[in-house]
Amino acid sequence: MPDSLLIENGTVLTLGKTSRVLRGHSVLIKNGLVARVAPKKAIKNFRGKRIVATGKVVLPGFINAHTHFYSSFARGLTNARRSRDFNQVLRHLWWRLDSALTTEDCYYSALIALLGSIRHGTTTLFDHHASPRAVNGSLEAIEQAVRETGLRACLCYELSDRDGARIANEGLAENARFIRQCQRQNDSRVKALFGLHASFTISDATMEKAATFGHELRTGFHVHVAEAQSDQDWALRRHSKRVVERLKKFEILSPLSIAAHCIHVNRREMDLLAETRTVVVHNPQSNLNNAVGIANIVELAKRGVLVGLGTDAMTTNMLEELRVGLWAQHLRAENPSVGFGEVTSALFANNPRIAGRIFGLRFGEICEGTAGDIAIFDYDPPTPLQNGDVFSHLVFGISQIEADTTVVGGRVLMENKQLVLNLDEAHVNARARELARDLWKRM
Ligand SMILES: [Zn+2]
Repeated sequence: MPDSLLIENGTVLTLGKTSRVLRGHSVLIKNGLVARVAPKKAIKNFRGKRIVATGKVVLPGFINAHTHFYSSFARGLTNARRSRDFNQVLRHLWWRLDSALTTEDCYYSALIALLGSIRHGTTTLFDHHASPRAVNGSLEAIEQAVRETGLRACLCYELSDRDGARIANEGLAENARFIRQCQRQNDSRVKALFGLHASFTISDATMEKAATFGHELRTGFHVHVAEAQSDQDWALRRHSKRVVERLKKFEILSPLSIAAHCIHVNRREMDLLAETRTVVVHNPQSNLNNAVGIANIVELAKRGVLVGLGTDAMTTNMLEELRVGLWAQHLRAENPSVGFGEVTSALFANNPRIAGRIFGLRFGEICEGTAGDIAIFDYDPPTPLQNGDVFSHLVFGISQIEADTTVVGGRVLMENKQLVLNLDEAHVNARARELARDLWKRM
């Protein structure tokens, strides 16, 4: 049975509702799901793959609720002009980079992001992809990378009018075709949403078409919302509506839809997001880097919005993003006690709920029936590790090391820091370097 796995004798940090520290416990995974969590001696006569986790902590794999795989090829890039504001960052860097991407670039940049995720124990990702000169088939190229790495990912193409009508139509078609394909496959590894870049680059006519496709396909949308104040200014000037109100008008908001950022939303918009059960994904490192502000996730959570955590491609390490998210909330409130519950919930409780809505499995807890997605860290705590201390150890201790072993649906993707894949990482990096060099020349 290929998906039968026993993780033996670890310190299991179950997380989830009961969040317990179980020493000397084993986790049995069968048919992709956790079948049993029990003291080591209680599980007998197991025949199948074993991983010894003695002296290590065993956690549910992490979820990244908003990222851009294609950004992998920006690492080391220095030829972007200086930017004064967010719109210049887009024009000087990201729109030049994504316009130069080929289909092969999409595949390799995805592999780089996915392999980095495995190294940090991230097992499920929500990607938002753009390659305006290589739209057709781009999602399939990324899907191939996802399947080769064994992770779970929800993909979409970020539809926009910024490159003209022909490319907008290709974006509509790419989303629709890929969503249909995923629905036919009905596979818990690869899912799709309908991608929209952002309100300020999508006309009413294109938004209407996207909404019609999305509703016919019974899918949610994945869109950047009020990342900078300029998105609101444009919506008010051009459409006499605030961004969230405009999305509501087109029925883009729903429990299956993801609104990334939501920094510049007012109380009325927060309530609309809550009423429609739309997911908001907070990306603190990217927001700080672009100097666009810090989302008020404390208020969003208070108003009943489900707030998750993403990296917006700033890192593949979810615990690094968690830390910065905490510091950002402290700074925003000028109070070092604000935001701990909201930010840790975003990663450990809400991201699993978001993934649950899309992938149809239970995530974020190691107990019978949850997805067999596990991260193991070689962590020997120098201070007591008890039921109430787990988050503090994650933020201040486990965040400082790479994962030892990463498992998705009972399949081992990395063991003792060695990738267990039909991919040669050195070869992937070598080809990626060649492609990135050519891409930078074309920009
Ligand atoms: Zn983004």
